[in-house]
Amino acid sequence: MTPLVLFGGTFDPVHLGHLKSALDVCEHLQLSQIHLVPNGQPPHRQATGASSQQRLEMLELAVVGYDRLVIDLREVQRQGNSYMIDTLQELRQLHGPHQAFILCMGNDAVMQLTSWNRWQQLSDYTNLLILQRPGMKSSANLELMSWQRCDDPSQLMHWSAGYFSSITLGQYDIAATNIRTSIASGQSLPEHWLTPAVATYIAEHRLYKD
Ligand code: ATP
Repeated sequence: MTPLVLFGGTFDPVHLGHLKSALDVCEHLQLSQIHLVPNGQPPHRQATGASSQQRLEMLELAVVGYDRLVIDLREVQRQGNSYMIDTLQELRQLHGPHQAFILCMGNDAVMQLTSWNRWQQLSDYTNLLILQRPGMKSSANLELMSWQRCDDPSQLMHWSAGYFSSITLGQYDIAATNIRTSIASGQSLPEHWLTPAVATYIAEHRLYKD
């Protein structure tokens, strides 16, 4: 069964670590599509540098030419706080109980899972694919959070939800925080971490300067 694969994030800004990781997942799982889900108002983060609209515009610029990277607008279009559990419930309604769902996240994001709204219900709606990020460690015990381990990531697509697996693909030592901090501290724009169109957008809109 072709799984529905999601990669959520703040994308503030979207960088090559996001894009290359998403493409690596497509390659590894032989997917024709992965859905990038920019969040609206991130409930568990400080106010960020760019507005939701600007983050979305950068994401739209970044995916041009990559047919496999599809943007899912439901979180940016939702009023009020933006929760992944609502997104999963909506998608489950659309796709039915047997559809395999795989939510991808970096190992740093797993550490924050218990701060997500209704996190206890996530395993009822999706599987998790955890991407190992260079220099980031995770000590989250997903089994204690009622997820079942699956040693082979490509087996995740055989279950609709409830399983997790970890994977080390291309290692891209890039983080949005470093991009924002570097710009705020007056250094030149780290263009090598961004697509040219996103770099131009950041410069033109003078983002992350303060
Ligand atoms: P920040 O530094 O502001 O926290 P970020 O670079 O981690 O940002 P997010 O938009 O917060 O980017 O991340 C969205 C998702 O992408 C998260 O699951 C995160 O772990 C993952 N991710 C971000 N950068 C990478 C990377 N270089 N390699 C793999 N996964 C990444």
